[in-house]
Amino acid sequence: MGADHPESPRRLDAIEDRLRVDGSGDFLQRLPAPMAPSAALERVHDAAHVARILTADTSVGEIQIDPDTLMNPHSLEAALHAAGAGLLAVDEVLAGRAGLAFCAVRPPGHHAERARAMGFCFFNNIAVAAAHALASGVQRVAILDFDVHYGNGTADIFKGDVRVLVCQTYQHPLYPHWAGALDAPNLVDVPLRAYSGSAAFRAAVTEHWLPRLESFQPELLLVSAGFDAHELDPLAQLRFTTDDYRWVASVIQGVAEACCQGRVVAMLEGGYHLDALANSVSAFLQPFLGEDLPG
Ligand SMILES: [Zn+2]
Repeated sequence: MGADHPESPRRLDAIEDRLRVDGSGDFLQRLPAPMAPSAALERVHDAAHVARILTADTSVGEIQIDPDTLMNPHSLEAALHAAGAGLLAVDEVLAGRAGLAFCAVRPPGHHAERARAMGFCFFNNIAVAAAHALASGVQRVAILDFDVHYGNGTADIFKGDVRVLVCQTYQHPLYPHWAGALDAPNLVDVPLRAYSGSAAFRAAVTEHWLPRLESFQPELLLVSAGFDAHELDPLAQLRFTTDDYRWVASVIQGVAEACCQGRVVAMLEGGYHLDALANSVSAFLQPFLGEDLPG
């Protein structure tokens, strides 16, 4: 996104470093992300949008795709691997080779709508993963999005699709200032005011997400795991703590064990304070790694 932009490669380095230091990396199996084929992208995006990104001429350097979204000569490859990670993760989880799959990917995806890139996002990674799961025979998928920003792209793509339940918490008002899907019955939107903090988040999950998940009975949980609601994050003011991410992971794990045979695919979205991001990802992984780990 340009020099000194918070959506930078340093985010993934920070996560890797943390998992190495806290020892949890020793318990993870790492798989390289394949590139998503166009057919997988076109399940959720207009062919014209996919073609526009695939053929964008970056030979001159960075080009602007959207007011917040720059594309450089490496962006396309990264975006295809980011979307492809979700395809592989769904395959691994559905085959029973993994319980949780965490996709440490960038660029993020949840702002990308059916027909346009937005907000650092080119392709909607979590939507591509959901559509792949549906195409693989899964009947009902739930997408849980606790990024501080509203996942307008995911809502745009799945609004009204009874096979997909989309549960979100987000700071409001805040980017992307989009309220087009608030009336769709399969969208569970819980806007939170700035500075509302841990208690409001936990109440939103407990009182709004869990009853809908209980009645929906998803067969797979997908998580848009954005960590930019953290109290140290520079882009927003929800003031979640690192422990909130450990807590929500344990809640997600509980739901997954109750109705999904433990199957969870989480994909990185936002999170722009490097230490907070790294600590939050580590905390999020802990419940899935078991009780016996250091840290
Ligand atoms: Zn975000």
